[in-house]
Amino acid sequence: MKLSQLFTKTSKTVPADETARNAQLLIQAGFVYKVMAGVYAYTPLGLKVLENIKRIVREEMDAIGGQELIMTNLQPREVWESTTRWSDDVVDVWFKTELKDGTPLGLAWSHEEAIMEMMRQFIGSYKDMPVSVYQFQTKLRNELRAKSGIMRGREFVMKDMYSLHASAEDLDAYYQQVIEAYKKVYDRLGIGKDTFVTFASGGAFTKFSHEFQTVCDAGEDILYLHRGKNVAVNEEVLDEAIKELGVGKDELEKVKSAEVGNIFNFGTEKAEQMHMTFAGADGKEHPIYLASYGIGITRVMGVIVEKMADDKGIVWPENVAPAYIYLARIGDDAAVREQTDALYDALTSQGCLVLYDDRDLRAGEKFADADLMGIPYRAVISPKTGGKVELKARTGDSTTLMTAEELLQHCKQQDLADVLA
Ligand code: ATP
Ligand code: MG
Repeated sequence: MKLSQLFTKTSKTVPADETARNAQLLIQAGFVYKVMAGVYAYTPLGLKVLENIKRIVREEMDAIGGQELIMTNLQPREVWESTTRWSDDVVDVWFKTELKDGTPLGLAWSHEEAIMEMMRQFIGSYKDMPVSVYQFQTKLRNELRAKSGIMRGREFVMKDMYSLHASAEDLDAYYQQVIEAYKKVYDRLGIGKDTFVTFASGGAFTKFSHEFQTVCDAGEDILYLHRGKNVAVNEEVLDEAIKELGVGKDELEKVKSAEVGNIFNFGTEKAEQMHMTFAGADGKEHPIYLASYGIGITRVMGVIVEKMADDKGIVWPENVAPAYIYLARIGDDAAVREQTDALYDALTSQGCLVLYDDRDLRAGEKFADADLMGIPYRAVISPKTGGKVELKARTGDSTTLMTAEELLQHCKQQDLADVLA
């Protein structure tokens, strides 16, 4: 990607109407465009980050047998009425609309009922389960407050997975597998160390549900944490949970956190409300077991920005960065131009993602943009580098001079971190 061709521009001014640091930085760096509070568009750079997060989540969901699909945002009333969740008193975030003939429709804020209704057509016997499906989809929620930037959107991207089972034991076993898969996801996203499986208010079927909470000052939740014992409890169930867990309240550290994922065991509740049964091995009809598992894709992006940014701008972990290298050409020297163009082509053709700053700007401006955009490595060719490339890590202070050949080799091995260490 060449910056001279990218339509977005960075901005030095902090957007006046935005208090959340994640949105300020993402807007200034040209990753998101604000339409209104809680409503953001994602530019090519922002979309690349989202796609990288989705790729990691997709790999881990596929690894536990998830089948990817995509549902629709237009939801018929009857399906949700059968579980009482059409009512605005029960679900207070619905956006609703209607067809020209007056037929009411809801814009999906979640998909449990929709998935169950679809599965009615495919599940008849215990042999048809377990089944696990997931999607990446835009969810619409009429949130009362939207002051946390992309961490709380009125429109946002969620990965939601649903698993259907013939027995509680089978569901429980899969539920544990999802917990392990989620841990891998947050590790790969670079927030694993600060993300905790948290006891939260339950569960149609169980006393507690489980949230994945990331310690984060910009988060809206309060967490009570025991890092040593790896115990985390959401404030809302604190009194109940500490009794159960046998820990004292004074042993726990109180921190602010953001819910980056949530898993929920519905048991047979949905199936009973929706009259959905399967024929068991015993020949009798039984209700289907359901669990749902969410990850806030856009929220995770905001949390990463909040947690890792420094005073110069965003810091993306390598796994989610829109590019691996920010290549800056300094000056307009013909030889420099030729060398930098050639290095860009060579890096790109070996599959290395490069953001090429080929604009006619001063070095200081290019370096400031490289920092603001948070690209993990900056490679510079200037009349002063004597035909070589000067490499620097986004979070490091030291630079290393190497030949273009050496840089290509290191990129192939993805060991730039070691080189600069
Ligand atoms: P919250 O308590 O933060 O409102 P929730 O309990 O309503 O979250 P779920 O319905 O379980 O969230 O949604 C699954 C995941 O989607 C959440 O864990 C969170 O990461 C993400 N999420 C929920 N609401 C939003 C939102 N308004 N904007 C961005 N992400 C969201
Ligand atoms: Mg909510």
